[in-house]
Amino acid sequence: MKDVYTLEDLRNWKTVTAGIDPPIRLAVFGDPIGHSLSPQMHNAALEALKEPMQYCRLHIPVPDLEEALHLLRDNDFLGTNLTIPHKLEVLPFLDDIDSAAEKLGAVNTVLIEDGQFIGFNTDGPGIARTIRAEFDVDLSDLRVMILGAAGGAGRAAAVQCALEGVSRLVLVNRTLEKLEPIYQELRPYFPEERVSAPIKWFQVCPLEEVTLHRQMDHVDLIINATSLGMKRTDPPPLATNLLQPHHLIYDMVYGKGKTKLITAAIDAGARAASGLSMLLYQGALSLEIWLQRDAPVPVMKDALWRAAGFRLVGDPD
Ligand code: NAP
Repeated sequence: MKDVYTLEDLRNWKTVTAGIDPPIRLAVFGDPIGHSLSPQMHNAALEALKEPMQYCRLHIPVPDLEEALHLLRDNDFLGTNLTIPHKLEVLPFLDDIDSAAEKLGAVNTVLIEDGQFIGFNTDGPGIARTIRAEFDVDLSDLRVMILGAAGGAGRAAAVQCALEGVSRLVLVNRTLEKLEPIYQELRPYFPEERVSAPIKWFQVCPLEEVTLHRQMDHVDLIINATSLGMKRTDPPPLATNLLQPHHLIYDMVYGKGKTKLITAAIDAGARAASGLSMLLYQGALSLEIWLQRDAPVPVMKDALWRAAGFRLVGDPD
């Protein structure tokens, strides 16, 4: 099996994958996609469950998304995961959308059933499960700040926080105007009478040090949902001198080794965890949608940890 397949491969799928056994029937679409650890995790699970199929990476740029989906259907795929930049772009091509994904406004899992494309979002429920597993606390007990709240994953985190009834929610984005729709959508979850002075219960902020500085005493959990950290040369998503020991930092970015944000959080005496665990729990939920059976979470976790080559902060030896 190749590390990464392309649209051209999909167009000639039967020839390109001749001899691959069991056949590839699940995928993850992205651009870029080479860094994705999803195949290692899902292939370990499929093998453990004795499901006769494999999972691959597909490099699909946005203009090719619709054709790629149709080619999946033609080639007997069960479905696909979607990562950057497809989670919002896929919405027009779906025949149906699960009600939770509709609320979340983004789709990271497509099920192909009776020729129809059905969209789901396992990022939101995956985040709630991840925070509980990583920090031993429920989202509902936390004051949460989300960096990159206007992006697909950030939006999912924001909606999930509202649904879970977090103690406080601060939505942060580089482009502030992009927060307006999600702010209006979530306002009903934070009724005015529960606003406690001097700091608002629910608010938006630009991704600027001076503004964020005023928030830091009043948030417990900071989630990085920006794409900063995916490249080694990226700066951290916020000024690291803002981090305090009481903070819990969840960096959705994952890869080999620690991100600059995770390193800075540990240096500041805060607790921190990387996006690997979110990948695990959203992946387990996606697998359950495709296969309609329980996912083998410990097997998936082992495979992911091995593929990433490092342990999550706070994970037992
Ligand atoms: P997306 O929809 O493209 O959103 C990207 C977000 O990052 C936007 O808020 C964008 O702000 C912000 N951003 C991009 N470049 C920036 C920069 N230079 N400075 C400040 N902000 C910047 O992407 P996504 O799908 O939500 O993914 C976001 C991140 O979450 C990625 O790192 C992805 O790998 C990670 N993720 C991880 C998991 C997991 O399982 N661990 C799952 C999903 C996503 P603007 O609105 O201003 O452009």
